[in-house]
Amino acid sequence: MPIKVTLIPGDGIGPEVSTAAQNVITASRAPIDWEVVEAGEACIAEYGTPLPEYVLETIRRNKVALKGPITTPVGKGFRSVNVALRQQLQLYANVRHLRNLPNVPSRYLDVDIVVVRENTEDLYAGIEHMVGRNAAESIKIITREATERIGRYAFELARREERKRVTIVHKANIMKLSDGLFLESVRSVARDYPEIECDDKIVDAMCMNLVQIPEQFDVLVLPNLYGDIVSDLVAGLVGGLGVAPGANIGEIGAVFEAVHGSAPQIAGKNLANPLAMILSGVEMLKYLGFVEEAKRVEKGIEHVLRQRDYITPDLGGEAGTQEMATAIIEAMA
Ligand code: NAD
Repeated sequence: MPIKVTLIPGDGIGPEVSTAAQNVITASRAPIDWEVVEAGEACIAEYGTPLPEYVLETIRRNKVALKGPITTPVGKGFRSVNVALRQQLQLYANVRHLRNLPNVPSRYLDVDIVVVRENTEDLYAGIEHMVGRNAAESIKIITREATERIGRYAFELARREERKRVTIVHKANIMKLSDGLFLESVRSVARDYPEIECDDKIVDAMCMNLVQIPEQFDVLVLPNLYGDIVSDLVAGLVGGLGVAPGANIGEIGAVFEAVHGSAPQIAGKNLANPLAMILSGVEMLKYLGFVEEAKRVEKGIEHVLRQRDYITPDLGGEAGTQEMATAIIEAMA
């Protein structure tokens, strides 16, 4: 019985990279039945919002979605679709598997880091107000419940993927209450996973160590704001936006999406690198339990990257988005 998955092509380069990912995932022989729905700019005129209710409905029903990037209209009062999706579907964990890939330009060689970011609270809760005319206050929320949930997610992931260490990233030396609670709550979860080493690092030192010797890190678990910043930093260590997959995981479902945006400058030109979107699809296959199929796609990607004949311009090649996807499909066969 095929598993139904919502596919949101998105804006800009979204449709191109989504088609590439859909074709590659289908060729992996995973039994997936795609339900394609529009969200983003095209919906605004008709529905008055980039995220119509029917899109949320299909994700609630199917529980799993693969999503292309969506343009956030500037200054028109729309909330970011991504933030809205995370809140509405309670996608509490943002997870990025970031590792060096063959022939993808990077300053490092052996980076293999999973960034696990809490996705529902911290300063991202957006509770702000003015204090008089010349001061603004933003409230940082950290709760034991949400922190234990993200901590458990990080340790379960480490156990499942046979990883050795989870590092808690914080600033508890200064924010003794909020970050102190984050640190203490994840540490309390760590006791249930004696086979996995648990340590912690202050976020500023973490950034320095990441650019010095990133190879030493394994799984990182962070509150929302530090997670936002550090996950982009780690994406930069392995070659940037074109190769960074992402996942937003909740208790009832998950949305998988590339880290990059809609790149309007190159949209419609068959120039976009489809790897980030295909790798997000690989994460989705693993989440659904299609591990063999995921490995098949990973092997196809490795082959195409090593061979270098069918890679997109951002990786130094001349192939188009669809040519690269086709080469991956052929390598999988
Ligand atoms: P962007 O990621 O779209 O582009 C940044 C740079 O990276 C550009 O030079 C672009 O050409 C390049 N790039 C991005 N993806 C690429 C790919 N797959 N292959 C080759 N080159 C690629 O970021 P931006 O310009 O800040 O944002 C553009 C729009 O996307 C904005 O409206 C923003 O709100 C939206 N956005 C959406 C998401 C999402 O839906 N997940 C994420 C980030 C930005």
